[in-house]
Amino acid sequence: MTRSRADSLRWMAEGTTLLLGALQAVPDAQLSEPCALPGWSGKHLIAHVSLNAEALMNLATWARTGVETPMYSSPTQRDDDIERTAKLPVAELRDRVVETAVALDASLAGLTESQWAQPIRTRQGREVTGEEIPWMRSREVMVHAVDLAASVGFGDLPGDFLASLIDDIAAKRDGEGLVLVATDQDRRWTIPGEPVNEVHGTAAGLAAYLSGRETSDVAGAGGGLVPRLGPWL
Ligand code: ZN
Repeated sequence: MTRSRADSLRWMAEGTTLLLGALQAVPDAQLSEPCALPGWSGKHLIAHVSLNAEALMNLATWARTGVETPMYSSPTQRDDDIERTAKLPVAELRDRVVETAVALDASLAGLTESQWAQPIRTRQGREVTGEEIPWMRSREVMVHAVDLAASVGFGDLPGDFLASLIDDIAAKRDGEGLVLVATDQDRRWTIPGEPVNEVHGTAAGLAAYLSGRETSDVAGAGGGLVPRLGPWL
């Protein structure tokens, strides 16, 4: 299945609405407590989502100008910025996550066809084009909406987004040896590798499993256990 730019832009908008809506329902005090991601509070997560928008604006600048503008100057800078930003007052973080999302929208809205096609590089060093930016953002806002709030689960994410997310992560988990069978979509995914394990579940369960999140919505062939996967992203 291939996703279009329109799909990615739609998912980016839907994911942003979901994340910001979920965030409004989380009280300030709770944001200082650990979120679903190891070592991070809710404030770290919100800081990261804001900084991610800024990093993707760098890629939008790269696409627009053709001048190499990396997401982050180094992995250390990325992590230091998250730590520093997470110390800001909650009210400031709440404003910032909205403002940066709006600014990213604006920077993408101005891209021409040839700029969308401009070669750029992700922080993992993948060679992509400007087309990848809204897809990268939709992954961040959708999956982190789940990480942020118990009120949002993978089951709340759109089915076509989930299938595209599984496509994406399956390609990156080459060598794991998995056959993924969706029980609620007419889809299956084969990830090469030995030995081969079958994993059955809803698209939401499979996406949670593949992205390295806790889930009880998948099972092996015959209802058995599934192999544990390492972290993704
Ligand atoms: Zn992230």
